[in-house]
Amino acid sequence: MMSRDPMLPVDKVTIETLVSVPGKRSCIDLHVHSTASDGTLSPAAVVCAAAEAGLHIMALTDHDTLAGWDEAFGACPPGLTVVPGLELSCVYTASGQHPTSVHLLGYLVDPAHPDLVADLRRLQGERSRRGEKIVKKLVAAGYPITWDRVREFADGGSVGRPHVGRALVEADVVASVDEAFVELLSATGPFYVRKADLDAVAGVRLIAAAGGVTVFAHPAAGRRGRVVDEAAIAALAAAGLAGIEVDHPDHLPAESARLRVLAADLGLVATGSSDFHGSNKVNRLGEHMTQPSAYQELIAGAWGSRPYEG
Ligand code: AMP
Ligand code: ZN
Ligand code: FE
Ligand code: FE
Repeated sequence: MMSRDPMLPVDKVTIETLVSVPGKRSCIDLHVHSTASDGTLSPAAVVCAAAEAGLHIMALTDHDTLAGWDEAFGACPPGLTVVPGLELSCVYTASGQHPTSVHLLGYLVDPAHPDLVADLRRLQGERSRRGEKIVKKLVAAGYPITWDRVREFADGGSVGRPHVGRALVEADVVASVDEAFVELLSATGPFYVRKADLDAVAGVRLIAAAGGVTVFAHPAAGRRGRVVDEAAIAALAAAGLAGIEVDHPDHLPAESARLRVLAADLGLVATGSSDFHGSNKVNRLGEHMTQPSAYQELIAGAWGSRPYEG
């Protein structure tokens, strides 16, 4: 578990403690967050950290926003390719069941696609309203945080529970963002508030309509909450899903092995990624990676935008 001073300027976080240095070439990490959502490194800092970690290809996948793309492109060091992406907040609802939270990674979408732009604007508003509700509940229970401070931590980016977690760390309620999740912010905790996310089938179709390709993020991350079954993944595959994130820090080895078989059965690309969030999470850049052949197969289906080569 990492506990860091939340007031530390993000670019001064010691990169060496956050990143791994993979020893082989063609190091591809397709799931990375920046301050455009709930990461702690700016888009410019995260592409530099990626190059320093030895990555050759890095996808920027902030929650429900494309706002970090231009800064990441502008700062992209020589030798690094930045794949523009996002992580779309969705729910999957099987017939007669409660909706289950599902994250979809969309790569290489057209950033001007009108339906995508409209849905992202709605999701941003939803995140903000829901964040304020969580803070109200915490304040009513006596926790000394404010919505203004949480918004300062979000700094104009997509508001998420990790920003509430940072306010709780600053107020000395908990020692780390991770502890904030365990004690107060988890989906099963008393302060959880749902947000109105996109239907997952509609999400796959939206990303396809915007010229992108979709990968189901951490489909077996059961530690975070309920996960969907294989029938749901098959249904999303039928709707146009291109891949599933097989290797992820929240998957146990047996789950990754099962997902690899499922990907082969359903004709889906198997990816591996870190889900790096800077000091908001313990995940290291390049902790899991994607095979070059899988990457090529994945991006071959996209036409909405192009990887940016530094
Ligand atoms: P939200 O998007 O507001 O629902 O917050 C969920 C996000 O919080 C996830 O996308 C993760 O990036 C992050 N998260 C989940 N669990 C933890 C944890 N234990 N520590 C830090 N961040 C977490
Ligand atoms: Zn996140
Ligand atoms: Fe996620
Ligand atoms: Fe993520």
